[in-house]
Amino acid sequence: MTTIQTSVCIVGGGPAGLLLGLLLAKRNVDVIVLEGHETFEREFRGEVLQPSTAHLLDELGLLEYILAQPHSTLNEGIVRINGTIAGKFAFANIVPEYPYAIWMPQPIFLQALADKAAPLPSFQCWMGARVGSLIEADGTIVGVHGTRHGREPFEIRADVVVGADGRYSALRRLGQFEIEYQHHDFDIIWFVIEQHPDIPTIFRRDLHSRQGRGLTGGRLVLPQWLSMCVVSIRSLLSLPQVSRTSNPSSRLKARSSW
Ligand SMILES: Cc1cc2nc3c(=O)[nH]c(=O)nc-3n(C[C@H](O)[C@H](O)[C@H](O)COP(=O)(O)OP(=O)(O)OC[C@H]3O[C@@H](n4cnc5c(N)ncnc54)[C@H](O)[C@@H]3O)c2cc1C
Repeated sequence: MTTIQTSVCIVGGGPAGLLLGLLLAKRNVDVIVLEGHETFEREFRGEVLQPSTAHLLDELGLLEYILAQPHSTLNEGIVRINGTIAGKFAFANIVPEYPYAIWMPQPIFLQALADKAAPLPSFQCWMGARVGSLIEADGTIVGVHGTRHGREPFEIRADVVVGADGRYSALRRLGQFEIEYQHHDFDIIWFVIEQHPDIPTIFRRDLHSRQGRGLTGGRLVLPQWLSMCVVSIRSLLSLPQVSRTSNPSSRLKARSSW
């Protein structure tokens, strides 16, 4: 059994766990992120980072870095019903500070966060490390037990254990936490539809990168099914106000301290 001692153990290498790990390691906190999957190509978790996310990344000084990864930018949306335009919007009219959504499959986003954190000496990320139980001492959680690659048991002892293992969190269940629901101004419809043979040619999108990196063949090919997530426009209207500058790129440079 592999046993290590650290300051912070984060269970779950999704956006929440990896970003927290990155921010802690940036401040020289010893941190390990445990991700159950072997790669970031896990269940479909969407592909669009909305302006609110761009705003957050900008505040953290990470927007320029993320925009250097393979992505495509959406500036406007059109809703067609039976071929007729039923409505349209432009992000420039709604969020002038971040007038675009970033079309970036989540595996690319997660890999970028992991790559950014990897050189930091106090950061570790174990892929294929699935946590199965908590270690408790005197009524306090002091670590986790799990298995790496399905066969290598490990024990992590930590001052702080963070459950970032998603909506069906095992840690929440093991720690007997109750869910506290916070209202969010989003309307989401989530459904899965069978792939029509014609869909790949309709939905393929080119992704580009300022660094010239690309996906396989420079194109994103959707899987055999589509999982659709429809988010209401109200979410865009509820963005916090940010100060405007006449030159967005100068704002990006000013905030980048990585
Ligand atoms: C179908 C769908 C479409 C979406 N579309 C979008 C979109 O377009 N844009 C957008 O911004 N958001 C979208 N979302 C929401 C977004 O995916 C979530 O908000 C985000 O992934 C939540 O991040 P998280 O890190 O909290 O959890 P998750 O992304 O769920 O990550 C949790 C991680 O924990 C790992 N894990 C779980 N249990 C264990 C364990 N026992 N041990 C170790 N690791 C474990 C999992 O493997 C997973 O990688 C979508 C969500 C869904 C379901």
